[in-house]
Amino acid sequence: MANLIDGKAIAQEVQDEVKTAVAKMQAEHGYTPGLATVLVGEDPASATYVRSKQRTCEKLGIRSVGHTLPADATQEEVEGLVAQLNADPTINGILVQLPLPKHLDEEAVLNAIDLGKDVDGFHPVNIGRLAMKGRNPLFIPCTPYGCMVLLEKTGVQTKGAEAVIVGRSNIVGLPMAMLLQKADATVTICHSRTKDLKAHLQRADIVVAAIGWANMITGDMLKPGCTVIDVGINRVDDAAAKNGYRLVGDVDFVSAEEVAVSITTVPGVVGPMTIAMLMKNTLHAAELALAKK
Ligand code: NAP
Repeated sequence: MANLIDGKAIAQEVQDEVKTAVAKMQAEHGYTPGLATVLVGEDPASATYVRSKQRTCEKLGIRSVGHTLPADATQEEVEGLVAQLNADPTINGILVQLPLPKHLDEEAVLNAIDLGKDVDGFHPVNIGRLAMKGRNPLFIPCTPYGCMVLLEKTGVQTKGAEAVIVGRSNIVGLPMAMLLQKADATVTICHSRTKDLKAHLQRADIVVAAIGWANMITGDMLKPGCTVIDVGINRVDDAAAKNGYRLVGDVDFVSAEEVAVSITTVPGVVGPMTIAMLMKNTLHAAELALAKK
């Protein structure tokens, strides 16, 4: 049976480090990091994610300022708010909760965020630097950053390892592949057009699943002794559950835990790590701002 990667404890460790550093910054410089969240519309899942990020800010001593715009907000209104936050010296990080309503140009909104406040790490300049050899982004996208910390803290050797990432989105799969490549893994990216996913997975020492398809990867597809990081969050009907559904990952946990050496559960591992890394990025943004003073 696989060892369960204790994401809650690792996320707590990251949060404790951030909390200590925030307190030190306040004591030594009288400066409090500030994170602005921008939520457009009333999608309940997005609202829950934003609330959880704000609550974590409060716990760590980071000032959190929430902005909510109506679902029919115009491109000018959203970009206007981003411009206002870019100019606000009390705000170090700007988090625009994705996805935005369909009528908005998400790329233009993300491009409008000041590079030094891009705590989600989605600005093309930050992603470009992540991709290039010898360059470093100001901020690393939070979910893949958290997955790298999970691998590191679990003692998984990335150097020379075969890593297979399933999914190539800009926010998870692609930056994850770049990070593992930087960590000297040999990386394969699989996606919906990949011909024989199982053949790729059976070579993989490290598997990162970011698909959005419940239980798609089963134990028989994995190489014995691999490490599995499951980023997926999917709702499946469950009459016994309070809400009528429960959350599962992209990996079929029951069959995979018999084959893998280490595995993450869903929910409760990658989610908390994502928030912890957002806090770390916000602290880093405040450090950059202080250094400029
Ligand atoms: P996304 O943008 O929809 O990307 C999904 C990726 O999966 C795409 O690259 C797609 O390939 C690939 N894919 C779809 N069907 C496939 C198949 N049959 N075989 C192989 N690959 C396939 O999703 P995302 O934003 O990356 O999110 C992925 C999952 O992670 C979702 O469940 C999401 O909720 C979760 N997530 C969790 C966190 C967290 O904090 N825990 C954060 C972000 C996302 P194509 O490119 O060819 O379409």
